[in-house]
This record gives sequence, structure tokens and C-alpha cells, in this order.
Amino acid sequence: MTEYQEDDSYRDHLATVDDKGKRIWVYPKKPKGKFTNYRTWVSYILLIILFAVPHIKIDGQPLLQLDILERKFIIFGNMFFPADNYIFVVITITLFVSIVLFTVAFGRIFCGWFCPQTIFMEMVYRKIEYAIEGDYKQQIKLDKQDWNFEKVWKKTLKQGLFFGIAFLIANTFLAYIIGNEKLWEIQVDDPANHITGLITITVFSFIFFFVFSKLREQVCTTICPYGRLQGVLLDKDSIVVAYDYKRGEGRAKFRKGEDRTAVDKGDCIDCNQCVVVCPTGIDIRNGTQLECINCTVCMDACDSMMDHVGFDKGLIRYASENEIAEGIGFRWTVRMKGYMTVLAILIVAMIWVLNSRNDVQAILLRASGTLYQKTEDGRFQNMYTIKLLNKTNRDIAVEIKNLSEKGEIKIVTPEIVLEPQTEMNTAMFIILDISEIEGFKQDVEIGIYSNGELLESASSTFIGPMTVK
Ligand code: SF4
Ligand code: SF4
Repeated sequence: MTEYQEDDSYRDHLATVDDKGKRIWVYPKKPKGKFTNYRTWVSYILLIILFAVPHIKIDGQPLLQLDILERKFIIFGNMFFPADNYIFVVITITLFVSIVLFTVAFGRIFCGWFCPQTIFMEMVYRKIEYAIEGDYKQQIKLDKQDWNFEKVWKKTLKQGLFFGIAFLIANTFLAYIIGNEKLWEIQVDDPANHITGLITITVFSFIFFFVFSKLREQVCTTICPYGRLQGVLLDKDSIVVAYDYKRGEGRAKFRKGEDRTAVDKGDCIDCNQCVVVCPTGIDIRNGTQLECINCTVCMDACDSMMDHVGFDKGLIRYASENEIAEGIGFRWTVRMKGYMTVLAILIVAMIWVLNSRNDVQAILLRASGTLYQKTEDGRFQNMYTIKLLNKTNRDIAVEIKNLSEKGEIKIVTPEIVLEPQTEMNTAMFIILDISEIEGFKQDVEIGIYSNGELLESASSTFIGPMTVK
């Protein structure tokens, strides 16, 4: 809590809920200014990327596809299978630590600049709303007025466009999961063949429509778990959108020609513009709050007012509590250095696991429920199943060789060509002479070769007679 705040009753309730627990609808004023312009450009670039990615291919493979249904993931054209789970664990932990580090240093900047919820809400849906219904005062008036022709056509057009965009988002969302070809099939083929796909698109269209037309800022203020984490991640050195209370208090209306320092007044002219533009309905002058998504529009609004009255800009700006209270600039705290060390270790681990990933994966399993069999020439054999997974986009002809110094192997399918991104199973035997058997159990190892190069090895156990030696 910032020092100047005497009345902290705002912490006991949400800005968008009244005393009776009823939702207070937020009508934010249309924002404009330098930061809004920057964010608009960033949003448009991110939106283009979001919609384009499912249609971009590398070597015939999607740039990114996260097929959670078939547990196949394609990242930058590289296929990952359930067998690569350990890579995802490392990537997920690395991402999590990066987010934590980023938040500790720069607060909720991600929410304001990069979060899809904010981008769609503020840069797409809200802009449509302003275009059809006008700025916040006209919107309030329209909502209060009785239903007439004007209200009907404006609301119908708005909700129709809202649903259209929700439908587009749902299709894109599905393209990230099943790929654009399968999505296209669903769209053009006989609907009877794609009931599940069509139901999924419809359900998600309604979910997105509900999120952006009704839930809106509630997603950020009450639902999003990342938002809830701010309380533990932020400290007094985190850079956030902050009101400079040292400079701004005591706030008082602007009077032309008045020497405000002489009458002990701060630079805040109490114009309320930072509050009316806020899409989460809060007053940033109350200090850092969980509802603040760092969208910068209050910075633009205040800068514009400061300009208007001839004061310096930056009364609301990116700053840490320590910068405002003590004048201490950005510094790398012990906590940040700790997270950075962990992050550096994880990045090295991630690069290592990605580099050590083989094109072919092999799992050697001894046929269950069997012991050994004696061959006609008096040797002993065990039967195995070998699972071979080709993770690449090309055919791979492989040869299986014995890597153990003892025995020989016999493969049911001697010539194996692995098709791209498929798994195949074949049976094989490992045969040992009585003189090579070390006891009831011993380790055996095979190698998967292609063009003479060892791609992968796999090991298992060999069961021999108990009374060999
Ligand atoms: S307080 Fe400012 S930065 Fe935070 S959500 Fe409101 S307008 Fe955006
Ligand atoms: S916009 Fe600036 S001057 Fe106006 S109330 Fe907010 S902080 Fe004060």
C-alpha cells in the first residue's frame, strides 16, 4: 500500500461490484495518446501473427500445432510426441520462470501489451463498440434509452459483429489444435461427417462471444490466475503503471494562474480522466491494485491533462514504488538475480534436451508372460517387441544391430522403412549361446542405424535358465 493513502476502503471491494453485489458495467472513455498508439500497432502485429501462424508451413509441416487430442505437437515444423514429454516439462518450467522473472521486474506489462484477452477486448471489440455506439457518454445514453429503431440496429449490428469475430477466433483456436487442413474439411465437407468439429466450433464461438460481450474486464480482475499472482510477485522495485503521489498530492482542481506550490497543492488537478478511461474501472491514484492490467491508457489521459494545464507529463508513468517514494531508479534486486540464475540454468537445460532429441525413438520390450525358449541348435532365445517412432517428416530406412558383445539378433521384418511421424512395432529375437548366459537375468542392448549412423539405442533384459552356472 502506498503511504499517502488514508482511506483504503477500495481494497475491500471490487470497483465493478456495488454494495449489493451487483455488477457495475464499465463504460471506459475512448483512449488516445502516445502509448495507446504504440499498443495499437503492437496489437495489430500480434493479431496478424495469431491468425497467420496456423496457415504457415515449414517443410510441409505447420509452424505451430498443438494437437492435444492426438498428443502430437509441432513447433517450428518439428514434431513432438508423448515420448518427448520431458522436453515439454523443461519448456514449461522455463516459461513459468520467465513469466515470474518478467513480472517481478516489469509487473503486469504482459497483460497490457501482449495478452490476447486485452488485445481482443480493447483493440478489437471495444473499437467496434466505439465505432457503432460512440464514446462512453453515448453508450450510457443508448443503454438507458427505451428500445427504438436506433437502439435495435446498433445493438444488433454490434452483437452480430461480436459473434462473427468470436466465430473467427474459435476457428483459429481449432486450427491450432487440429491443423488448417482438417479445419477446412470441417468447413466444406458434408456437416454430417463432422458433427463433433462443428459442435466444438459452435460452443467455442459462444464462449468467446460471452467472454468479450459480457464477461470483459471480469476475466482480468477476477478469473485470470496470472492476475491473482501479482500480489506475491510484485515488490517495491517492480515497474508498474504508477501514480506519482509525491508529486500529485494534495490533489485539487486547476485554477488558472494559481501558484499551486504556494498553497500546498500537488500536480493532480483531480480531473478524474485517469478513472474514466480505465477499462477495469479503478482509480490508479489509490496505488497499485490487482485489477490494474497496465494498459497505459490512464498514462495517456493524464499526460494529455498535464499538457493542457502546462505541467510536466508523467504524473502517471511506468515507475516502481521505490522510484516514487525514494527516487531510486530501476535496479536488479537479489530476487531478480536469483530468478535469472534459475532461468539461465533452465535455458541451458532446454537447449541441451532439444539438441539431444533423436530423429528416431526406440523402445525394446520383452514379450510379456514369456521366459526363454531353447532353439533347435541348443541356444536360448527371448522374444521382444520393438517400437520405432520416426519423429521426422521424411522416410527413414533403419537397420537394427546388436550392441551387446554377446549373442545375435533375428528380426521378423529385416528391412524396415519408417514412414514420417509414425510409429511401428515389430518382433525380434535375441539368441545367446549357453556359454554367453550370465545368469537368470542379464542386460541386452540394440542399436538403430540408418546409413551406418547410430540413431538410437534401446536396452532390455534377457531371461536365461536359472541353473546355467
Ligand atoms: S489503472 Fe491505468 S493502467 Fe491500470 S487498468 Fe486502469 S487505465 Fe489501465
Ligand atoms: S488524470 Fe492525472 S491529473 Fe487527472 S485526476 Fe488523474 S492523476 Fe490527477
